[in-house]
Amino acid sequence: MLCLFQLPCSASTPIYSYKWHILFRCKWVPFLRTSTFHAPRNLCSTPQYPMKLKMIDSSGTKSAKGKKSLQPTFTVQGDTLQVYWHQYVVVITSICSFAALFVRNIQATIISISNHEYESFLVSFAFASQVIAIHAAYLFMGYLVADFASGLYHWFLDNYGNENTPIIGKQCVAFQGHHQHPWTITWRPFCNLVGTSCLLSIPFLMVLLTIPLPSSLQTFLTSFGFFVVFAQQTHQWAHLSKPPRWIEMLQQKNILLSTKQHGQHHKPPFNKKYCIVSGICNDFLDNIQFYDKLERWVYILWRWIPRHRMEADKAE
Ligand SMILES: [Zn+2]
Ligand SMILES: [Zn+2]
Repeated sequence: MLCLFQLPCSASTPIYSYKWHILFRCKWVPFLRTSTFHAPRNLCSTPQYPMKLKMIDSSGTKSAKGKKSLQPTFTVQGDTLQVYWHQYVVVITSICSFAALFVRNIQATIISISNHEYESFLVSFAFASQVIAIHAAYLFMGYLVADFASGLYHWFLDNYGNENTPIIGKQCVAFQGHHQHPWTITWRPFCNLVGTSCLLSIPFLMVLLTIPLPSSLQTFLTSFGFFVVFAQQTHQWAHLSKPPRWIEMLQQKNILLSTKQHGQHHKPPFNKKYCIVSGICNDFLDNIQFYDKLERWVYILWRWIPRHRMEADKAE
C-alpha cells in the first residue's frame, strides 16, 4: 500500500512535521492524550483561503450568474469537454448492463412470488409484500452505502494522492482542482462526466452479470454500483443553478444531494460533507468526526498527512 501510493504529504516533509507531531501526540492519538495539553491556537483556527467566484458560494446558495457563467478551467493535463467515441461505448455498455441487472432482479422477485404455493389470498398477498419489501430494503441499502462510499472515496481523492498515484492519479488532481474551479463540472456533457466511472465499473458489472448470486445480494450490489457510478451526475446537479425540475424536487426532499448541503463542502478547509449521492450520511459522519478519526489512523499507519491540514498550515 505504501509503495502503491507515493503521496506528496509524507511526515518527512520538514515544514509540517513539527506541528503534526504536536497535533498527533496530544489531540489525535487517544492513548497519548493528556488533559493538561492544549494544542496551539493556530492549529485549530480555520484558514482563510482566497476564494474565487464559483457556482456555489460560501453560504451554500446557488450563484446568480447561473449555469455556464464562467469558462471551464482544467487542472488535469489533456482534460477536455469533448466526448470521445470510446466514452459513448463505455457509458452505453454500463447503462445497458445496469438495466439488464435491474430487469433480472425484478424477474427474480416475480419468480420467487409465483413459485410460492397458493394458500389463501391473504397469505399469498403477505408473502408477496414481504418479498417486495425485502428487495426494496436491499435497494435502499445499496443507495445508502453508495452515498457513504462516495464520501469515503471523495475524502481520499481530496486529501491524498497526486498525479503520480497509479490508476486514480487523474481523479485525485480533478477532485482537488474542483475546489478551485467548481463551475467546470457544470460544462461537462453526460458521457464526459461519467465516462471514467463507467469504464471502472465494467469489470464489476461483468462479475455481476456472469456469477450467480442470491437475488437479495444482487439487488444490493446493483443499486450500490449504479449510485456509485453515477455519483458525478448527482454532484453536477448540485452545482447547477437550474437543474431539471424533478431533480430540484428530489434535492429539496434530500433524496439527491442538495446545493445547500454540498455548498458546505465547498467552504474552506473543504474537510466535511464529502458524500455526493444523496448527502444522507453527511451529518452523521461529521457529527461522529469520522474523517478526523480516519485521518488520525492513516497518519498512525502510514504517516500520511491530509491535504486540508497541510494547506491550513501553509495558510498560516
Ligand atoms: Zn471535495
Ligand atoms: Zn462540488
